[in-house]
Amino acid sequence: METPIYLDHASTTPLDKQVLEKMTPYLTDIFGNADSPHAIGRSAMNAVDTARDKVAQLINARQNEVYFTSGGTESDNWAMFGGARAKRAEGKRKVVVSAIEHHAVLSSAERLQKEGFEVVYLPVNEGGRVALSALESAITPDTALVCLMWANNETGVLQPIDEACEIAHKNGALFFTDAVQSAPYIPLDMQKCKADILSFSAHKFYGPKGVGALYIKNGVKIEKLVGGGEQERGLRGGTVNVPAVVGLAEAYAIARAQMQENNEKIKKLANLYLREISILQGVTRNGDTQNALPSVLNLRFDGVENTAFLYKMDLNGVCLSAGSACASASVKPSHVLTAMGLSEREAKQSVRLSFGKNNTEDEIIRAGRLTVKTINELRGF
Ligand code: PLP
Repeated sequence: METPIYLDHASTTPLDKQVLEKMTPYLTDIFGNADSPHAIGRSAMNAVDTARDKVAQLINARQNEVYFTSGGTESDNWAMFGGARAKRAEGKRKVVVSAIEHHAVLSSAERLQKEGFEVVYLPVNEGGRVALSALESAITPDTALVCLMWANNETGVLQPIDEACEIAHKNGALFFTDAVQSAPYIPLDMQKCKADILSFSAHKFYGPKGVGALYIKNGVKIEKLVGGGEQERGLRGGTVNVPAVVGLAEAYAIARAQMQENNEKIKKLANLYLREISILQGVTRNGDTQNALPSVLNLRFDGVENTAFLYKMDLNGVCLSAGSACASASVKPSHVLTAMGLSEREAKQSVRLSFGKNNTEDEIIRAGRLTVKTINELRGF
């Protein structure tokens, strides 16, 4: 079988070979439990310390502000539950989140509501951006936590996180941002970004799956989510996944070193695809194009069900998706697109293409031509 053309990098990315090489010794010879006091354990702990130092330096944070987790989902859950519950002690009982967050955040918000928190969902405009005026109206002195993602996973649209953070702080609330999608494309700098809590995940930037990080600003108190041993300074129990943590740090270092070059290349590929399909009528790009990641195109093909299109593209060797991979088993229309004002029908005619650093121009041209052919077929031309 010919290697498929992979245009689903917002779902996950392939592991970089250089990252695998860095991880391999910790999967084999240096297999120790990082908490064991003997030599093999100490070697493992050294690797964890080095990885934490590296990440902290790259994101301009302190070493003790970086916590390793099992991925973006755990980081998001921890931020939401840990942040909100810690603030409950101060009598704060409201949580404000955008309506377009990832399900890792939204499901936490729903469960917080069952715990007695009032949850307010912020609407977005037709470009998929949260209006700050909505946050200004929703926030009150009893708001524990405000959560606004840095970039949306379905549209790539960037959110006004600096301004939202300022509003949260003015009202005494914690500010959490999910940077899982933005991290491969926008440098994390925790001296510039004033968020109290920030999540990211290695597999979005060519690192391993099942490992992520949570930045928690020094002085910010959040409750633990995963209890057990005293790992991660007593805040996250469980034997540390040493090879994964080593992989995360290496992958993020590579992502930072290549960021500008990759962004330029990926933007060119996205534009090339748009050019290739420009002969098609009835194509709409969903989301604000001025404030967006370079890597994501969310497109609506008038009159074509996305499931039929994705199926045919897949049969012809092109992997892409309708939106969030976590929700792909769901028959519901995208909550992100419907929040932007698309009808259910329009949302079900929309697909997400997300380009990556290993894609070639030849692949994009082939994918573009196949798109034109497939859409024409499905429209019955
Ligand atoms: N947050 C966003 C915005 C995401 O796109 C994803 C994954 O798609 C997650 C959180 C969950 O991350 P993970 O797959 O590492 O659990």
